[in-house]
Amino acid sequence: MGGNSKNSDVLNKDINDIHIPTFYKFIIDSLPVAVMTVNPELNITGFNRWAEEVTGYSAEEVIGRYCGDILHGGMCDTGCPLKTVLTRRSPVVRVETTIRNRWGETIPVRKNIAGLLDDNGKLIGGVEAFQDISELKALEREKANLISMFAHDMKSSLTIIGGYVLRLLKKMRSIDEAKQKKYLEIIKNESGKLELLIDDFLEFSRLQTGRLKLNLAATSLDKELMELLDSYQLEASESGIKLKLLNEEALPVIEADAHKLRRVFTNLLDNALKFSRKKGTITVTTEETAKEVIVKVEDEGIGIPPVELPYIFDAFHRGPGTEGKRGFGLGLAGVKTILKAHGGRVQVHSEPGKGSVFTVFLPKLGESELTSIQKRKSFEDISDAR
Ligand code: ADP
Repeated sequence: MGGNSKNSDVLNKDINDIHIPTFYKFIIDSLPVAVMTVNPELNITGFNRWAEEVTGYSAEEVIGRYCGDILHGGMCDTGCPLKTVLTRRSPVVRVETTIRNRWGETIPVRKNIAGLLDDNGKLIGGVEAFQDISELKALEREKANLISMFAHDMKSSLTIIGGYVLRLLKKMRSIDEAKQKKYLEIIKNESGKLELLIDDFLEFSRLQTGRLKLNLAATSLDKELMELLDSYQLEASESGIKLKLLNEEALPVIEADAHKLRRVFTNLLDNALKFSRKKGTITVTTEETAKEVIVKVEDEGIGIPPVELPYIFDAFHRGPGTEGKRGFGLGLAGVKTILKAHGGRVQVHSEPGKGSVFTVFLPKLGESELTSIQKRKSFEDISDAR
């Protein structure tokens, strides 16, 4: 590939009579955007370092060549945007099209194009800035894919519910009570799954638009965790997994949205189960510091490779080992946002092959933040439920 300074020299020399100060040459070459200039005949006059990076051609190779022969742009034959700019003299902004790199691979790009005028307003060429948007396109495809998987999962639950409701309606008299109960259990399970799915998506869209609203009240994490772990015992024991809650010291009541916090721990426990191996142990430990309550969800599962760690809280991100496992990559994105809304945070420590620990930190209740009535009511609710 051509050297940076040579490239700048060429850019400088070939835009006919225009002198570009060294400073601008330096900036154009340093920009993380591909920049190509052409003369009115659409022959390349400049090609910055990023353009070399994206296309695989060096500036020396392409200078003086017809740009269509180099980029093989998706719009070259149908409506070359550079030609349009040069004829109409108005810029073309944010067009999405494709180019081909030197190895024949098609790359989706986003382009901005403008005419180059000299001091007298004479058109002396055009400049095209383009960005490789392959990753963006892959993410869009992935999102579309996940949405169709989501629709598919919803549809299969609905089909099952519809089927059993119909059976009950048609054969109510002829089927015995035990069978009726079994059908109703199935309907209940499937509608539970549907609710979780829809919650995930609603929450995700609320999180995206910043519309997450918390219904704060005095909340006992001990009570929430005990109930939650109870509901997971059956699933865990069916997979040969031990589920332990270590909360010897009762945690103080905190001000929180109990429903949303349940979603946080549901997501963490779901993952711990999903990524555990048979016969592992999942341990939930609680502790407190002067200012925070801390809940650790620890598994002995497949672990997360260090390179994955920065991305696991991104929406739609799914790591290796998830093939064939349910999920949309939304769980941890929700966990992070819900905790942030509470003034809390989540940390992860993981070793591939050994397991993962997700640690949740939540601020303790400030004395002034709840009215005594709220507190009393919530404490009564908590002791009733115990
Ligand atoms: P999902 O579970 O639907 O894939 P999440 O947002 O909950 O999405 O998690 C994102 C990714 O983080 C998962 O796909 C997985 O690669 C990784 N991950 C999360 N929790 C664990 C865990 N306990 N053990 C191993 N990997 C995990």
